Amino acid sequence: MTTMPERHLVPADRLEAQLADLKPALSPAAARTEALRCLYCHDAPCVAACPTAINIPEFIRRIGNGNVVGAARTILESNILGHSCARVCPVEVLCAGSCVYHLKEEPPIAIGRLQRFATDHALAHGLRFHRRAPDTGRRIALIGAGPASLAAAHELAVRGHHCVLFEGRALPGGLNATGVAPYKLQTDVALEEVEWLLGLGGIELRTGVWVGRDLSFAQLERDFDAIFLGVGLGPDSRLALPGEDLPGSHGAVALIEQIKNQPGFALAGVERAVVIGGGNTAIDAARELRQLAVPAVTMVYRRSEAAMTGYAHELAQAKQEGVQLAFQLVPLAIEGEARVTGLRCARVDAQLVPLPGGEFVLPADLVVRATGQEKLTALLAEVPQLTLEKGRVQVDPRTHQTTHPRYFAAGDCVNGGKEVVNAVAEGQRAAQGIEAYLASLNGLTGERGDRQHG
Ligand code: SF4
Repeated sequence: MTTMPERHLVPADRLEAQLADLKPALSPAAARTEALRCLYCHDAPCVAACPTAINIPEFIRRIGNGNVVGAARTILESNILGHSCARVCPVEVLCAGSCVYHLKEEPPIAIGRLQRFATDHALAHGLRFHRRAPDTGRRIALIGAGPASLAAAHELAVRGHHCVLFEGRALPGGLNATGVAPYKLQTDVALEEVEWLLGLGGIELRTGVWVGRDLSFAQLERDFDAIFLGVGLGPDSRLALPGEDLPGSHGAVALIEQIKNQPGFALAGVERAVVIGGGNTAIDAARELRQLAVPAVTMVYRRSEAAMTGYAHELAQAKQEGVQLAFQLVPLAIEGEARVTGLRCARVDAQLVPLPGGEFVLPADLVVRATGQEKLTALLAEVPQLTLEKGRVQVDPRTHQTTHPRYFAAGDCVNGGKEVVNAVAEGQRAAQGIEAYLASLNGLTGERGDRQHG
């Protein structure tokens, strides 16, 4: 178990370090030129499209005026993880996707890259735009140290509450550190942001602690005034295919984590990879494998291209990078004896009915399942009075309070798996819900720091 502050080190020989940043930093001159293109729209549609409602025209105007510090302040006051969001947000379908320049059939403003320009400056210079209020004596446990918990903890620490993040993994950051495609965000950059955020004070990080295994919910209830569930999702879903446990068969999220953080992990000898799925994780995995020089990478999807759930702009990039696509194929078995040699598939029609004579084996020495992640229902079942629906924690959408009044929840365990920026927005809302709950306790007990309530 470790306690922040400390510098989290990532292995130098991790595979992700070989991958290039596909949207590199803008130079000051390029940032200013791009900022001056902005029309600074009134009722800007880009702001409406941002889940954290960053005042985009304001921060862009500030960059245009040479006020980079002011631009960073505008961003980070609305979204404390604006540094990673600048890199990982699918701006093509959010802010930049709504930019009025589309109506003029001109390229939208490069909002993500401008946001990166400003927040890079803030982190590089250790700038901080929040100050902690005096200690209130209230203690909040946050389970998981991903974006939802980090955003909630920051907001609560600013208000003077003491926060403790419990993270089972060795590294904080959640999917930012373990699951985001390396060509968008690498683990060391994600950790720099976590360290910067924790520099506020009032947030303790305990890694290597799995709540439910090392620490019970009952213990947390004894020691904390409120508990926040930011546990995310579980392991990659299984398809119950024969051969699924052969060497060379991986879940996509687990494979991406190995590429990002496992010392010495290599893809030596992999000539043909097959990725099962049509969502964003499948596209990420396929692109990473191609960028890591796997000669043949094929995405296998059971429906048509039009039915794919992955973003069209990501799929277009994947095609450009040489990822092959195979549609209307249902996987039947992972073939091989000592290790994977192929994926047995059946051709199906639009209703997924197998076509006669449509069975064949797609040769492969790596098969990746990217068909979703399991919900953490067994863990969440340990919380009394918690209501789940299809494995998702049910919350009041205004406060993110669960059906157990002392528990709040946000991020993937509530929304089923959305973007980092959604987790941040929800975490911030949950912090406000927790603040209101703590205020109601103060009204009940008449004093702060009293945990003798039910
Ligand atoms: Fe600037 Fe485009 Fe937003 Fe208008 S919609 S404020 S042009 S980024």
